[in-house]
Amino acid sequence: MLDRLKELELSSKQLEPDKSQRKELWQSIEGYAENFLSKINTLKAYDYTQDKGIGIYDQPISEQPRNIESILQNLAYNVDRPGLNPASHGHLGYIPGGGIYTSALGDYLSDITNRYAGVFFASPGAVRMENMLIDWMGKAIGYKDGFAGNLSSGGSISNLIAISTARHAMGIKPKHYEKSVIYMSEHTHHCINKSLSITGLSEGIVRFISLDEKFRMNADELERTIAKDKEAGLRPWLVIASAGTTDMGAVDPIERIAVITKENKLWLHVDGAYGGLFTLCEEGKKILKGLSEADSIVIDPHKTLFLPYGLGTVLVKDKKHLIAANRYRANYMQDIVKSEDELSPADLSPELSKPFRGLRLWLPLMIHGAKPFRDGMEEKILLARYFYEEVQKIAGIEVGPYPDLSVAAFRYVPKEDNADEFNQKLVDEIQRDGRVFLSSTKINDKFTLRIAVLSFRTHLRTIDLTLDILKEKILQLERSE
Ligand SMILES: *Cc1c(COP(=O)(O)O)cnc(C)c1O
Repeated sequence: MLDRLKELELSSKQLEPDKSQRKELWQSIEGYAENFLSKINTLKAYDYTQDKGIGIYDQPISEQPRNIESILQNLAYNVDRPGLNPASHGHLGYIPGGGIYTSALGDYLSDITNRYAGVFFASPGAVRMENMLIDWMGKAIGYKDGFAGNLSSGGSISNLIAISTARHAMGIKPKHYEKSVIYMSEHTHHCINKSLSITGLSEGIVRFISLDEKFRMNADELERTIAKDKEAGLRPWLVIASAGTTDMGAVDPIERIAVITKENKLWLHVDGAYGGLFTLCEEGKKILKGLSEADSIVIDPHKTLFLPYGLGTVLVKDKKHLIAANRYRANYMQDIVKSEDELSPADLSPELSKPFRGLRLWLPLMIHGAKPFRDGMEEKILLARYFYEEVQKIAGIEVGPYPDLSVAAFRYVPKEDNADEFNQKLVDEIQRDGRVFLSSTKINDKFTLRIAVLSFRTHLRTIDLTLDILKEKILQLERSE
């Protein structure tokens, strides 16, 4: 057995490169990153390729090591070329993510030290750091003391945590599902539907409140519908509002909705995955009034704080509800959970083992300070407004409502052809061109294009480029008809 152990040790020790091996690896990896960053302004936002990265299969997982340069070539060609480039300044589709460099450095360090930030006992400093960030974000949306939150993988999981917390707090048990009523709007993000399905709440009644002409939830209709449902002996309990819808960036009238939920003793959840953090800048704060009235809210630092994918946040106004819905005790945890100095993330979410996510937000905030983040947010709002004004100068363009935040919708109405078909072709052409990436949606059954300005690399020149590309492609398509 000792011989075998020696043999195994020799082999398994390859997982611990020595100093000179680390240096070599690091140079290759850093070289790759630098090459990517040095080209980032000219790389396509969308690269349409025939192969679609299929070459990744040509290097199957084998027992033998491979050379780092050939590995990185494979990565560059098959992964970092085809499809959407979320790191590009030209990514104006869906809701763009970020990818700031200093956050990547935070990820690097948190992966090296691998602190376990789930439980205070295990890494008190890491847990304090995460709690400090939650406190900072909670205060930014206007919460006073007494709230709690959790750093999750993203908005979808954060919404799930919020909804299961709301269910627990409101005492909704499966036997109540049949008569329980949840209210949301036609533009509520589809991850909410997933959450309702996972929690079983989709077995209850879900009402889709219609939108007003600015694509915000119609609060009068909400109020009327709740009253009617109560009269009919049903049990309204949850309203899900959006602080920035994915389709239109529209902010529901949160202040007004909060009055309705208070009067009727319902839980108000706000999905602010896209827009909630805009409260960090003055322009955003004006639009997001009433956010702090929400019983729970979701915000996504990997969207609005420009971080690389992998960080969402759920905040619950009264921490006791978040704790009650998530805390369990297992015998094998008895050493770990004895300390109660700080709330532990593992008590506030379904996760146990988790990455130390705090560092990827803390490090950038420490290095840059908060100001460039606030200014970046205001810049994105102003860029969307600028686009909205300028795009109307293109003959034939029809716009949606004035942007609440940083999403603007528009379409081209051709002189003769079918507008839906034309706009489908237009978005296809823009995607094939690839310098910028726009996505489309259906608004009132009309095929509609939209830009979402949220990448930290998107500045004025990107918007001007987008306007030029639009003019060019419209002209081309009109000529070819
Ligand atoms: C992006 C988004 C989500 C989903 O968040 P993920 O971080 O992608 O899981 C939910 N709601 C809204 C409004 C969003 O924009």
